[in-house]
Amino acid sequence: MDHFLYRNGALHAEDVPVAEIAAAVGTPFYVYSTATLTRHFQLFDEALDGMDHLVCYAMKAASNQAILRTLADLGAGMDVVSGGEYARARAAGVPGDRIVFSGVGKTRAEIIQALEGGIRQFNVESEPEMAVLSEVAHGLGKVAPITIRVNPDVDARTHAKISTGKSENKFGIPISQARRVYADAAALPGIKVIGIDVHIGSQLTELEPFEMAFRKVAELTQTLRTDGHEITRLDLGGGLGIPYARSNEAPPLPADFGALIKRTVGHLGCEIEIEPGRLIAGNAGLLVSSVIYVKQGEDRQFLILDGAMNDLIRPAMYDAWHDIVAVEEPEPGHEQVAYDIVGPVCESGDTFAKGRMMPKLQAGALVAFRSAGAYGAVMSSEYNTRPLVPEVLVKDDHFAVIRPRPTFDEIISRDTIPEWL
Ligand SMILES: *Cc1c(COP(=O)(O)O)cnc(C)c1O
Repeated sequence: MDHFLYRNGALHAEDVPVAEIAAAVGTPFYVYSTATLTRHFQLFDEALDGMDHLVCYAMKAASNQAILRTLADLGAGMDVVSGGEYARARAAGVPGDRIVFSGVGKTRAEIIQALEGGIRQFNVESEPEMAVLSEVAHGLGKVAPITIRVNPDVDARTHAKISTGKSENKFGIPISQARRVYADAAALPGIKVIGIDVHIGSQLTELEPFEMAFRKVAELTQTLRTDGHEITRLDLGGGLGIPYARSNEAPPLPADFGALIKRTVGHLGCEIEIEPGRLIAGNAGLLVSSVIYVKQGEDRQFLILDGAMNDLIRPAMYDAWHDIVAVEEPEPGHEQVAYDIVGPVCESGDTFAKGRMMPKLQAGALVAFRSAGAYGAVMSSEYNTRPLVPEVLVKDDHFAVIRPRPTFDEIISRDTIPEWL
């Protein structure tokens, strides 16, 4: 459920007409709903009720300071994957002891940054990383709390580019080698192993792969405890999918995910962390764009938008489907037209949808991409020197620009010309 509904013939973000934001900000822009972000965070939090737990928002999904602050104020922790994200989380007021650091390629500089700034735990993904982390922490006179990310060799049955839990993926250590790696970890002076981490992929639309992974983690917990390790924390990752096409998808709910966690690892008495990103931010955001031209091709009609692949890359990168709706509510029984919906960028890949049935639209009409809140603005670029798409946050009947559109001068002045020119 989200808070983007038609009212009086116009699409609203909570109580604000989307067209009103477009008039104030210009298009394209992203708009997020505070109520939706809040609701999604709380669904996860409530799903783990009765267990000692922390919901660490995977902030790579959408990392604007205002979004982070909204979630942090509700008690969210953060899952970060870079020094930049760590700095963003801290700048938004998230204390170090609510930040977990994931990622396969943490640099020494990032490790030092997190150790000095404060960290809940590092999710270690390889033996070389473990050695460097121990050495750096020891050198600073610290002991870094860690979990080790295991790769359970489970097929998440999702898009290949966002599947992470198969043995061929770059993530984590093979679960078959876990006992030896945990034994090695116990001997290192700069780290303290406190748990196990797993994350098998993103946009999972069924629970079975999670179930297989969590059962393997439960079994490993028992084995490692028998080996003498204190396993007190399980980080079970994120990955729960969202319905991108409203008409025919119904992925499992956070409550189902929580019940699965209780059923599979609840008996172990561990503190539970989860790292949802997409399900918190995805349906909390729209990308709003204007039709520049309606162009008649030989055998198809093109809807040319002012939004492009640089603003929302998911269709080009993952063949992703986004529901695209007219901001002005179509009349009942309106005429439908099949459009190829494209952006202005000089690449055929700049295509959002082909043959999409839409109400008949004119130049100047506003359209909204649903479910664009996660992996949308964060993956945007200034390709074609198109200014980074602005972001807006709505709360009830008011809105604020939370990232302005840069001017051409601002973009150009980031470049510097060497003195020999
Ligand atoms: C990307 C990622 C997540 C979040 O995945 P979602 O599908 O957005 O929920 C969580 N944990 C790790 C380690 C990730 O890389």
